[in-house]
Amino acid sequence: MVKICCIGAGYVGGPTMAVIALKCPSIAVAVVDISVSRIAAWNSDQLPIYEPGLDEVVKRRRGKNLFFSTDVEKHVAEADIVFVSVNTPTKTQGLGAGKAADLTYWESAARMIADVSKSNKIVVEKSTVPVKTAEAIEKILSHNSKGIKFQILSNPEFLAEGTAIQDLFKPDRVLIGGRETPDGQKAIQVLKDVYAHWVPEDRILTTNLWSAELSKLAANAFLAQRISSVNAMSALCEATGADVSQVSHAVGTDTRIGPKFLNASVGFGGSCFQKDILNLIYICDCNGLAEVANYWKQVIKVNDYQKNRFVNRVVSSMFNTVSGKKIAILGFAFKKDTGDTRETPAIDVCKGLLGDKARLSIYDPQVTEDQIQRDLTMKKFDWDHPIHLQPMSPSAVKQVSVVWDAYEAAKDSHGICILTEWDEFRKLDYQRIFECMQKPAFVFDGRNIADVEKLREIGFIVYSIGKPLDP
Ligand code: NAD
Repeated sequence: MVKICCIGAGYVGGPTMAVIALKCPSIAVAVVDISVSRIAAWNSDQLPIYEPGLDEVVKRRRGKNLFFSTDVEKHVAEADIVFVSVNTPTKTQGLGAGKAADLTYWESAARMIADVSKSNKIVVEKSTVPVKTAEAIEKILSHNSKGIKFQILSNPEFLAEGTAIQDLFKPDRVLIGGRETPDGQKAIQVLKDVYAHWVPEDRILTTNLWSAELSKLAANAFLAQRISSVNAMSALCEATGADVSQVSHAVGTDTRIGPKFLNASVGFGGSCFQKDILNLIYICDCNGLAEVANYWKQVIKVNDYQKNRFVNRVVSSMFNTVSGKKIAILGFAFKKDTGDTRETPAIDVCKGLLGDKARLSIYDPQVTEDQIQRDLTMKKFDWDHPIHLQPMSPSAVKQVSVVWDAYEAAKDSHGICILTEWDEFRKLDYQRIFECMQKPAFVFDGRNIADVEKLREIGFIVYSIGKPLDP
């Protein structure tokens, strides 16, 4: 029986390995992590991450050919293929701080693999890493292995949180990069054979190592760039009377452009887009490509601009002050169908409103009070000026309450900000909400999911991103 071990039981390691275990019953899959609480959660009925369809997949395979363990060394030693899916955040100190990827976790995983291995192994980069990381990993492994041979593959993950299971079941493509040597090609074939259990052959792309590593950064940069492009257009729409939804539709029907990822919003979030673009900028800088770095910087700058624009719109609409006013925040996760709040635009919007002394009542169906308090009090790294920005003061954070439903959040509020596109926010009884709010009652729709006409009929003053303003 082929044995797989994945180091890192996070948003990527957990779901990807659960799907491999489901689709390949003849393969034993161990997911290991140094976090005792995370592994305990994977072994319980309360999985550590919310992802539609994940519970069922885990329940079907756990204890059969899918195991979650903190015994990292044992499972790595026994494995034929070791995936490494540890976190690769942005460095906060030292060389490249604010841009470069922090490969501390990766390096410690690689040293441990070399240390405990007693048989040849394929080591797969599942984490998103800077191009050329495989070269560094090869050095660490070869200089520390006692006669053991390692083949490094790059197999970046393209799943999106919220649709991870569906993305893993039917990936647009699986990308495998390896060395162009006979051993490298043999390793590629071994990994191809795993995916071939359910992925059609023409969807499994093979490349050299550097193309695979760079493709992941490029894909995230392109996706984020589309969002910043449409968000930049949304500002122009508001200034001119054009409607961004109509513009997006007209632009997206061009088959060269396509309709996906053209929704205007309060901005992109999540743990990957900003981090991976910063990483790309750093790589460009290191290679003397300042103009290319500047091009990608603009994608992040427009995203920051969009979040600020939203806050400014809220404050200016509410007669230039939100001091002491209660504002309901509907949604805190960076997108629907996840409880992940890493880099969510809600953090910046809430901080902006608290900075103007608003009182916030926050509701998100999958985000806990602890997460929100942590996010609002965490130091934020300013990538452009590598100094730590101050977290919110304790007195500002006292102005935040986290509640259990949208109606409770809206009670007595002056305005509602929709920051996550949860389906339930489309179906709310807005008449009931209107009746329990202060007047005039405002809706600021940061995701363009509200039925603007209906809300205006009820009596709300409505702001949607990139749409004509209230008459
Ligand atoms: P995560 O923080 O949820 O999970 C990483 C896990 O690795 C943590 O549980 C941590 O405890 C564990 N870990 C760190 N060092 C370890 C070690 N030495 N031994 C054992 N466990 C260790 O991160 P994630 O969101 O799953 O992302 C992982 C990687 O995948 C990142 O490089 C990310 O950029 C990339 N990625 C993420 C997504 C996404 O949507 N989250 C999508 C594609 C790619």
